[in-house]
Amino acid sequence: MSYFDHNATSPLYPIARENLLSALDEAWQNPSSPYQSSARVHALLEVAREKFAGVLSCRVDEIIFNSGATEGNNAVFAWARENSDKNSCVVVSRTEHPSVIESAKAFFGERVLWLDVDENGVVSCEQLEKLLQKRKICLIAIMAANNETGVLAPVDKIGNLCHSADVRWLCDATQWMGKLPAIDLSAADFLVGSAHKFGGPKGVGFIRLSPSIEGFHSARGGEQEAGRRGGTVNYPSIVAMCEVFSFLEKNELKQKESRIAWRQVFEDRLQQSIPGLIINGVGAKRLWNTSSLKMPSQDNVRWLRKLDKEGFEVSTGSACSSGSEEPSHVLAAHGLTAETARRTIRVSSSWLTKEEEWMALADAVERVWGEFTDKSGGAFDVISVES
Ligand code: PMP
Repeated sequence: MSYFDHNATSPLYPIARENLLSALDEAWQNPSSPYQSSARVHALLEVAREKFAGVLSCRVDEIIFNSGATEGNNAVFAWARENSDKNSCVVVSRTEHPSVIESAKAFFGERVLWLDVDENGVVSCEQLEKLLQKRKICLIAIMAANNETGVLAPVDKIGNLCHSADVRWLCDATQWMGKLPAIDLSAADFLVGSAHKFGGPKGVGFIRLSPSIEGFHSARGGEQEAGRRGGTVNYPSIVAMCEVFSFLEKNELKQKESRIAWRQVFEDRLQQSIPGLIINGVGAKRLWNTSSLKMPSQDNVRWLRKLDKEGFEVSTGSACSSGSEEPSHVLAAHGLTAETARRTIRVSSSWLTKEEEWMALADAVERVWGEFTDKSGGAFDVISVES
């Protein structure tokens, strides 16, 4: 099988696997226990934190290790609710992950102000600026890179706007980390990520807090993580995450241009061979690994099944929306109808995906297209010419 669903989750990178396995065998003790073997694991944990903080160019006490981005996003909204007055609002982009959207609604209800995106999925900085001038806002949630389309946010501009208005920025960087330089997100007050999206283990992640943030708790009931996240520390997974993250930043990020070129050839080819195929977010800057393809006909589940039989694992958009009746809220925010959103398939690669795999996937998509058009005698079930 050729796996093209890395935005949902990625297999362990070799360096993560090595570190995870050796720590599971040799550093499994609870770092908070009162004997020497635990003190050793505690010391190792702090070495891992230093390495991680070094890559992010931040202080070690800005890093809290947790279970992943869902926990991180929930905790930030809980903090914002506890540390703001009853009239403050939060601004949330319409294309955020459900862990942001649902937390915002749960903690702020009617006090969520939705930030629109354009037809390419890019947030409106003009609207953000106006909201910042007119409303009392305690938090802004804008993700760095979208999980369904790969569309990137104008992070420098957002950082400047939040900074000048003295409003905190929650940046869900789950899809950005390990693919683009983390340093570019330094302006975020809360930076959230999950290891399994970049080749680390599942169930481990981090949040980087700006030093001025006080009273933050991700989980109460323990003194771990400087009292900000109770619960037994998962050192083996943490060290695996820190090692792979630092490896990617040092070695893989520089290959970005070649990966953009491979994806471009893939997209150009399909746009030529399949009339009416449209790339969602094509007019925006996107992650090098993601291609969101709006097919001219057929429900995406039919595409997925056929491609699976051909040996290619792709997805409908987000793992969370696969198989659900609800069309993607991300594509709806781009202006797609429910019917066109249901014709979208998402392809997402990793640094280890080869150029030949992109080409083989293009062959398979063309073969499946050939089958669909043959069966309908050349006529499409549904044809779309919208942009
Ligand atoms: N945010 C984004 C942008 C994501 O893509 C995901 C994973 N789909 C999450 C948050 C949640 O990550 P996790 O399931 O690892 O907590």
